[in-house]
Amino acid sequence: MKILCVVRNYAPHASEMKAEVPKEPVFFIKPDSALNPKQLPFFYPDFSTDVQHEIEVVVRIEKVGKCIEPRFAHKYYNSVALGIDFTARDMQRKAKAEGMPWFLSKGFDGSAVLSGFVPLEELGKGVDNLEFALKRNGETVQAGNTRDMIFSVDKLIAYVSRYVTLRTGDLIYTGTPAGVGPVAIGDRLEGILEGRSVLKLDVK
Ligand code: MG
Repeated sequence: MKILCVVRNYAPHASEMKAEVPKEPVFFIKPDSALNPKQLPFFYPDFSTDVQHEIEVVVRIEKVGKCIEPRFAHKYYNSVALGIDFTARDMQRKAKAEGMPWFLSKGFDGSAVLSGFVPLEELGKGVDNLEFALKRNGETVQAGNTRDMIFSVDKLIAYVSRYVTLRTGDLIYTGTPAGVGPVAIGDRLEGILEGRSVLKLDVK
C-alpha cells in the first residue's frame, strides 16, 4: 500500500507557503509505516520543534488501475476520509533550502493520520463539494471545500496513474487548505467532514 500526497492543491495555501500555484499536480509519498489509522496519540518527535498540521481529504483506491482516464476516475473510489499530513516544517525548510529531498520531514512514523472512511453515498454528495475543517483545542484553524482544489480528485487520479499503478487500498491525500500551523504537546485536534466529527487526536 502506498500513500500518495499532493502539494499545493489550494491556491490560498500555496500563497501562505510563498510558493507558486503548480501547473501540473505535484505528488510525494509517505511510507505505510507513517500511517496512524486508529487515532492513537501523536507523540511529538524529538527531531523537530515545528511540527505543523495539514488537514486533507483522503480517498482510498478500490481497484487496480493504470493510465486511468479522467472520465473513468470516479470508478476507482467510493468513500472519503480526513487525514492529517503532519509535517516537520523546520526539517522541510532546511531540506528545501539545500535542494535535498524532504522525505523524512513528511514520512516519519505517525505523520499520516487517517479517520474512518465515509461512503460518498452516505454523504449524498460528490467528492468535489465537501466541506471540511480542523479544530485545534476547539478553535477552527483550517477550513476548506474540495470544490476549491486546483486539481480535482479525478484529475489527480488520471495524472498520477500515468506514472504509477494504483492498487486497491492505496491512499491519496489531496492537499491542504490555508491555515497550516504548529501543534504543541497537550493539543487536541479534531477533524470535521460535512459537519461530522470524524477524527480526534491528542498530541503528547
Ligand atoms: Mg499536505
